[in-house]
Amino acid sequence: MFEQVVKFIKDLYGNPESVSLHEPRFIGNEKRYVAGCIDSTFVSSVGEYVNRFESMVADYVGVKYAVATVNGTSALHAALIVAGIGRDEEVLTQALTFVATSNAIVYAGGRPVFIDSDRDTLGMGPEKLAEFLRTCTVQKDDGCYNKKSGCKIRACVPVHIFGHPAKIDLIRDICDRHRIVLIEDAAESLGSFYKGRHTGTFGSLGVLSFNGNKIITTGGGGMIITDDKDLARRAKHITTTSRLPHKWIFVHDEVGYNYRMPNINAALGCAQMEQLPVFLESKRTIAKHYRNFFEKHDIPFFVEPANARSNYWLNAIILKDKAERDAFLEYANTNGVMTRPIWALMNSLEMYKGCQNVSLDNAVWLEERVVNIPSSARV
Ligand SMILES: *Cc1c(COP(=O)(O)O)cnc(C)c1O
Repeated sequence: MFEQVVKFIKDLYGNPESVSLHEPRFIGNEKRYVAGCIDSTFVSSVGEYVNRFESMVADYVGVKYAVATVNGTSALHAALIVAGIGRDEEVLTQALTFVATSNAIVYAGGRPVFIDSDRDTLGMGPEKLAEFLRTCTVQKDDGCYNKKSGCKIRACVPVHIFGHPAKIDLIRDICDRHRIVLIEDAAESLGSFYKGRHTGTFGSLGVLSFNGNKIITTGGGGMIITDDKDLARRAKHITTTSRLPHKWIFVHDEVGYNYRMPNINAALGCAQMEQLPVFLESKRTIAKHYRNFFEKHDIPFFVEPANARSNYWLNAIILKDKAERDAFLEYANTNGVMTRPIWALMNSLEMYKGCQNVSLDNAVWLEERVVNIPSSARV
């Protein structure tokens, strides 16, 4: 069985010696724009490509404002700061996510609280969120408080895992009812829509990543997207060292961050944005091939959830149990097909062991079974 899977994946990618999990593709204007950037000498944090890249992404996802940063983690950090996370305030997020989500919460002075995922989306479960808020919190005049810790719960950061949208409208309604700010970690979901609307645009702020393994890349890069003018202005301000605008005088009005995306990265980003429709189409075709194959072999393949159009950034299968998962990982990785398990749950990591979590049944179930399989665009 494993043998057939490995053979299918190798065939799908034209039988190379080995197939990696996810590689970037540079098939458009990448070299031209980057060379132009070098010729102009504007390779750093000032230059036309940064603004252009921000407008391209803002137009594509359908928001008014976009602020480009050095990576997705810094975008999350800055988004949490402008959302007003105070020291020792709590932020609800998922146990099943990449570590950057929790790290950014801690950078901003907050404390993560881990909520369970849904099996059909891999994202935060709205019922699980509602249940936690019903049983573990109280509403006071100035917001939502955790009964156990006494801390204020300021924000909620759900994640659109592997590009598959979470049930974000339900999550938003629950957050609104409890006066909790919604920030979407859409790092993996550029090109994914829920009920016709782009992921990352449901809450107050959304965050994208353009790391080398994401659907498009700027080398390293991230972006904050929002429709709120004040949040956008403040995000731009603190990510550019909080410097007051002046041609030659350097005055800064608060502790800021050197998080601005350099122009040379944005040049790459502009060229990659032009290719996004091509990448999305290719990924949809790859997912269709996988779906047909795995259906025949009775292995659950992760498809886009109801009401969603996924970018199929990283494909995943669900194996029977941990033993089968480990055997498959061993076989595939030693036979030239790179595969990997989903991340270890955040509450199992040394630095997050002390964080509150409630009934992570689905997250535990998924962690033991979900495996990512090669997903690079075939272009
Ligand atoms: C990639 C990723 C990030 C962080 O982005 P970087 O650009 O790598 O800093 C955050 N959250 C999730 C879910 C990611 O996959």
